[in-house]
Amino acid sequence: MSTIADNLRALAARIHDATQAAGREPGSVQLLAVSKTKPAAAIREIHAAGVRDVGENYLQEALAKQAELRDLPLIWHFIGPIQSNKTKAIAEHFDWVHSVDRLKIAQRLSEQRPAGLAPLNICLQVNVSGEDSKSGCAPADLPALAKAVAALPNLRLRGLMAIPEPSEDRTIQEVAFASLRQLQQGLDLGLDTLSMGMSHDLEAAIAQGATWVRIGTALFGARQYGPA
Ligand SMILES: *Cc1c(COP(=O)(O)O)cnc(C)c1O
Repeated sequence: MSTIADNLRALAARIHDATQAAGREPGSVQLLAVSKTKPAAAIREIHAAGVRDVGENYLQEALAKQAELRDLPLIWHFIGPIQSNKTKAIAEHFDWVHSVDRLKIAQRLSEQRPAGLAPLNICLQVNVSGEDSKSGCAPADLPALAKAVAALPNLRLRGLMAIPEPSEDRTIQEVAFASLRQLQQGLDLGLDTLSMGMSHDLEAAIAQGATWVRIGTALFGARQYGPA
């Protein structure tokens, strides 16, 4: 039995238990398998084990894996920082983008989304921990950004995403995730998505309403390089 399939079983149990503990509907939390730094073969394995959604942070790396995995009906999510010169390829090759944090990027994605494709699903990344170095829009700027992005023709604004400052303290984790949930509720745009929770804090995220958890390490093992 493969390690990845074993990891997936353990992860599914964590998600199930956290969903139940939160009194939420079974199946209301979706798994995004974050495969940055991992080979296409690992994605093939996770797909064979029943996972359909894959998240990548680096465009060139993602495009190479997509080319190798063309035969699989995967749904690709871009979750990394976005430079303007990468928007065209992202608009052409992904189904979701979780890391939009400024209007200029959203406008380019909308303009560059090919006509034959469904609208690109968008989450706005919000900096809920207030760290200077992190990407994400400031909470104060979110209402105007969300309104403008919701009006773009070839995008479908689905919700919000955050990467809080890492903490092992469950209370601190939940405070950050609760603030993202409250920001979303305050927008009143009928958004259905909260992309929050990673390997170490998915229980806190699910308790606070996550609809996507983005999981790398707990599925594929530790990464050899790249961001933690
Ligand atoms: C790497 C990464 C993840 C996965 O993190 P793990 O701790 O390995 O589960 C999730 N979201 C984003 C944006 C990432 O860059």
